[in-house]
Amino acid sequence: MKVYKFGGASVRSAEGIRNIAHIVSMADNELFIVVSAMGKTTNALEIVLENFMKADHNAALSKLKEIETYHSEIITELFVIPKNGFEVIESLFIELKDYLTNSIGDDYDRCYDHLVSYGEVISTSIVSAFLSESGIENKWLDMRQLLVTDSNFREANVRMDESQKRLQKAIDFSENSIFIGQGFIGTNIKGEPTTLGREGSDYTAAVVGNLLNASSVSIWKDVPGILNADPRLFDNTVLIPEMTYLDAVELAYSGAQIIHPKTIKPLQNKNIPLFVRPFGSPSEAGSVIKASTEKPINVPVLILRKNQVLITVRPHDFSFVLEDSLSKTIFTLNKHRLKVSLIQSSAISISVCVDNTRYLEGALDELRNEFNVSYNDNLELLTIRGITNEIVDKTTKNRNILVSQRTRKSGRFLMTDIDKIG
Ligand code: ASP
Ligand code: MG
Repeated sequence: MKVYKFGGASVRSAEGIRNIAHIVSMADNELFIVVSAMGKTTNALEIVLENFMKADHNAALSKLKEIETYHSEIITELFVIPKNGFEVIESLFIELKDYLTNSIGDDYDRCYDHLVSYGEVISTSIVSAFLSESGIENKWLDMRQLLVTDSNFREANVRMDESQKRLQKAIDFSENSIFIGQGFIGTNIKGEPTTLGREGSDYTAAVVGNLLNASSVSIWKDVPGILNADPRLFDNTVLIPEMTYLDAVELAYSGAQIIHPKTIKPLQNKNIPLFVRPFGSPSEAGSVIKASTEKPINVPVLILRKNQVLITVRPHDFSFVLEDSLSKTIFTLNKHRLKVSLIQSSAISISVCVDNTRYLEGALDELRNEFNVSYNDNLELLTIRGITNEIVDKTTKNRNILVSQRTRKSGRFLMTDIDKIG
């Protein structure tokens, strides 16, 4: 069997969903299809949640109405008989309205998972109904019952053994050759919905591939494959046709948006190739990530990670012990779910670069108990693999560089934010 994953951009319009049906109809294999929420629905649901947590039920319901209208318009355009689509989403929006009206937002992360997971439930319901209407038989699965995770809401970790048992029970390829399930979402052991972290659908696809021993996993994207840089940020990008799991992990760690960092491990464990394929032209090969390659990457790779904060900590007195301060700092950031993307130390200070998220304030507060803390925000971290002076000149020209780290083959530059580097 194979796993196909379609992200939010693939399902953002009726046209995209028709294209999914086209791609799926060409597959000659047993398939498990993983689908994300449509377009920017996850962001929109996050706004619903913000209002709900502030107990502004009217604002929450009115934002939800926008989300419902967006999906309704797609259904009207997509289906021959729109009733086939409306039927499957009606009860979901009733559940959501009921929740927003009658519950009280207490635990942010738990409420987040309860609410935001509907984005994927709604999108998969529509896609499944449309495939059926188009004569492509398929079975819809609720990953809020099948993919078991811990209770680390918003960043849940998959329990592989329990998930495998449940998935294998739910899936019988002799009865159906196509199954469709949500990316990004799961359940804890108590049956409460969980999510795996933003952009986590790739990770779901990899986990499902591992648990069902897929022969390959394909992620269909709105790019030709894996490029050496983000084409929205850099000119003259080129396709990298092949890379190893190790390359992919390094790139994902540096902030390459192409795949979620957790995606590689479940695939590498079972030696399953990961294809990144162009949604718009399914006959093209795209890129493949696998155990080894005869064609090592021979172009510079540029990764820009935006919205970074550089935190600098100094002990209140001069009693600086690097190891001690470093481990306290990293421990605190980790506890507050901040991912460290760069570390720099000096005689009396440590600087770390992290993503700017809603957890930053809490982490800074806790660090202040122990250290003098200062920080700079609105920064960008540029990682260059296959570095040359020419590329450095071109990409860092006129930039204010706060930290630079360079090895023989690669370099990292933390700089003030500007929108486009030419
Ligand atoms: N819908 C989720 C998000 O936008 C998961 C995903 O797209 O992978 O973060
Ligand atoms: Mg998405």
